[in-house]
Amino acid sequence: MFHPRSEVVITAVASRILTRSSSARRQLIDITEDVLEFVRDSHVTNGICVVSAPHATAAILANENEGGLVKDILSKIEDLFPKMGKYAHNLIDDNADAHMAAAFLGHSRIFPVVSHRLARGTWQNIFLLELDGPRSRRQVDLQIVGEV
Ligand code: ZN
Repeated sequence: MFHPRSEVVITAVASRILTRSSSARRQLIDITEDVLEFVRDSHVTNGICVVSAPHATAAILANENEGGLVKDILSKIEDLFPKMGKYAHNLIDDNADAHMAAAFLGHSRIFPVVSHRLARGTWQNIFLLELDGPRSRRQVDLQIVGEV
């Protein structure tokens, strides 16, 4: 049984587009500060924040920004999705490995917003993962929905 709350709850939506260039074929680009700034600038106190890359050859990850780990992640992607694999897509293009990695890693991550802060672990930085760079323009769509 649904019991509506008696007080008035104002819901808001805030959006922002980030743009980045990439300088390597595969690259982790830390966008944590931009996402945190977006949350601070929004008036949402409690809700959800979506971080989404509108690309077929890029992904969004959340993990520690430590140099060795960054290398490990990129190296594991090469193990799992080697550039020179046997791919049907490469009959018409040359970047099947990038599509494959993006498809399995996912183009978005969702975080709770609690008390006007992004709820994340101390070692959870947010990355745009370039899989088919270098590119002059990559986009990340940010959106928060929640109560003001
Ligand atoms: Zn392609």
